[in-house]
Amino acid sequence: MGGSAGSIRMAAVAATTSLPSSCNRRLISRTSWILRWVISMLTLDKQGVVREARVKVQLVPQIAHGPLQNVHAIVVHQTDSPTASGTIAGWRTGNRPDGAHFLIDKDGTTYQCVSLQQKCWHVGKIVSRCLLEKSCSKTESAWYDTATKRLRGHFSTLVQETHQHEKDKDYPDRYPVNEDSIGIEMVGNHIDDKTFETPAAEQQASLRWLVQELEATLHLLNTDVYRHSLISHKNPGEAAGAQW
Ligand SMILES: [Zn+2]
Repeated sequence: MGGSAGSIRMAAVAATTSLPSSCNRRLISRTSWILRWVISMLTLDKQGVVREARVKVQLVPQIAHGPLQNVHAIVVHQTDSPTASGTIAGWRTGNRPDGAHFLIDKDGTTYQCVSLQQKCWHVGKIVSRCLLEKSCSKTESAWYDTATKRLRGHFSTLVQETHQHEKDKDYPDRYPVNEDSIGIEMVGNHIDDKTFETPAAEQQASLRWLVQELEATLHLLNTDVYRHSLISHKNPGEAAGAQW
């Protein structure tokens, strides 16, 4: 990350020193965005592990699933469990190969469990972004109409085929998947089939800090951060109360 930070820093300095008096607001905004990257980047070791006082490293190899080549997004989750220790213990048993890169306990303690260079299985099957945002082309609309009619009464097959269809698109035409996103879990239980408990203030503060640092480090925008419940077939309350 050192070389990248250095070149960004040089670009920021060049942009700042060469600003004419009539420079427009967009350039200033762009420059401050670049400076924010420089100022708040996570310190990472060569293995993609965060070396910061605020992050406790407890790697769980059982939930790391091969190289993560490109990161386009962050997905925020809630564990549906009462404690971080229970979640990590569950991940370590290997009975649940799904998991996430980071885990934020109720007191705000933040754990990194998987390297940023490794994939986690945390997203599952994604829904259609253009359908949800009502932005499908005619061709896309026709594909979904046909699939929905053909698979009436076979919901799980429709979910699977939609996921496969979406995966062939480039981000951000689709929602993020395991192959291009970082997962952050917040400890918290569901209340009913539509609701999760609201994250504690300490969790929210840690989430805000972590998201901001990851955005700066991985060159992501705030619009690249998603609630799991929005993009997949989940309890709609999951991470609904999370703020970043
Ligand atoms: Zn989730």
